[in-house]
Amino acid sequence: MKEDSERQNSPRVAVVGGGLLGLTLALRLRQAGARVTLFERDERVGGLASGASFGPYRWDRFYHVILLSDLRTRALLAELGLSERLRWGITRTGFYTDGGLYSMSNAIEFLRFPPLGLIDKLRLGATIFFASRVKDPRPLERMLATDWLRWWSGQRVLDRIWLPLLKSKLGENYRIASAAFIWAIIARMYAARRTGIKQEMFGAIDGGYELVNERLRSALLEAGVECRVGTPVREVPRHDGGVVVRVDGQPDEAFDAAVMATPPRVSALLCPDLPAPAHARLRDVPTQGVVCAAMLTRQPLSVYYVTNITDRWVPFTGVIEMTALVDKERFGGNSLVYLPLYLPVDDPAWSESDESLQARFLEALEKMYPHFDRDQVIDFTIARARNVLAISTLGYSDDVMPPVRADDSARWFISAARIAYGTLNVNETLGLVEAELPGLLRELGLRPGGAGPVAQAFEPPDPRAARAEVTS
Ligand SMILES: Cc1cc2nc3c(=O)[nH]c(=O)nc-3n(C[C@H](O)[C@H](O)[C@H](O)COP(=O)(O)OP(=O)(O)OC[C@H]3O[C@@H](n4cnc5c(N)ncnc54)[C@H](O)[C@@H]3O)c2cc1C
Repeated sequence: MKEDSERQNSPRVAVVGGGLLGLTLALRLRQAGARVTLFERDERVGGLASGASFGPYRWDRFYHVILLSDLRTRALLAELGLSERLRWGITRTGFYTDGGLYSMSNAIEFLRFPPLGLIDKLRLGATIFFASRVKDPRPLERMLATDWLRWWSGQRVLDRIWLPLLKSKLGENYRIASAAFIWAIIARMYAARRTGIKQEMFGAIDGGYELVNERLRSALLEAGVECRVGTPVREVPRHDGGVVVRVDGQPDEAFDAAVMATPPRVSALLCPDLPAPAHARLRDVPTQGVVCAAMLTRQPLSVYYVTNITDRWVPFTGVIEMTALVDKERFGGNSLVYLPLYLPVDDPAWSESDESLQARFLEALEKMYPHFDRDQVIDFTIARARNVLAISTLGYSDDVMPPVRADDSARWFISAARIAYGTLNVNETLGLVEAELPGLLRELGLRPGGAGPVAQAFEPPDPRAARAEVTS
């Protein structure tokens, strides 16, 4: 009886967006005692981390790896009973530059790297080392990435290495990125090697992120969260002290509060009644998207997990050979390769057809890898996501980043655009949940973990356990 009345009195919360952020947040809210309904546009949960078919095999629609230092991700996997499914591998990095493929996997290879002279190499090495030592990135938000890199690496290294890399991640938006953006990329890559072994080590989940999404969804259902997939929300206006969730073809539904776990530009569309300045802040976050080809092919392209590309004629940003990390047997002995192309949201290339992209990509691969022939390709698919990555511009965290609350209504806006000093990754995404949950619960009159059977069944994970494992 007491439990029933607690349920009746606990706040009703809508979570819009069933990516890893929305899923985790929904679980934590439920554990704290809220009555939660999750709305996901697609038929499956997982968002950017959802799965796709490559021939007869399934894997992530976009490539994902886990770092040893991704403690929150590892704690979540442990909580979902998936630690055993995490496989670690030592990987190598390549560089495609001046029409040649070079290994850049350790200090000796770096010193041998032909495209740069010794002084340039020393300056490049010093830039990376210095960036890895910066503890407070806030001052870097006051400098453009290009100015900072020119200062540390010199004009030649900027032109030969950094600019092609920046352009490949940001297109023409590289001009507005602050030094904090490049710092975050260097810091994450450095973390992949900071394990004492001085080699790059990555992890992947046996089964891909789809397995995580499924487990999270089961955990939500078990905890009593209502999951409505295939349900695109059209609007979330404020209403009578709470909110209304509006879905085409269904009656309006009232909630005490709503969390938009959607990209800010989508959240702006969902909440047109926000005050104009708050609305504009969500709508105008400078954003990058990605067009990502995935190719199942009979022969590997190379031994590298990542190949960075500095030659401008190549139509994609990099080559990610997933089967340099994941056992090829999972794909019938074939290789799974991703070819991402990062684009500003308004780039004309968004309207290019799959056929045209495929033809251009395969032609480039045949030029880059003499042993590669398009007849080896078993499957070629293209995935697109337009609102992926907020660009850290000058003064981003103070003047550009959308706030969690945009007015005094019961609406929260939590998205990857809130990652001020990090790259877009699952670990940072889970960090957002950790950072914003206490404030959210306070306003809802709930306590973390709450009380009752649900909370006890899903104790929040202890990241210290994973940390001890890393340092041991
Ligand atoms: C190419 C690429 C490579 C990556 N590589 C890595 C990696 O190696 N390691 C790593 O840790 N991370 C990586 N990531 C990042 C990782 O995928 C993201 O950090 C994570 O998936 C973000 O989750 P999210 O919930 O914030 O956003 P999303 O996944 O974008 O979730 C938003 C959800 O909202 C839903 N939605 C949108 N509009 C509506 C609506 N109107 N109504 C209802 N639902 C709606 C969407 O369908 C989606 O499910 C990569 C991402 C990309 C794109």
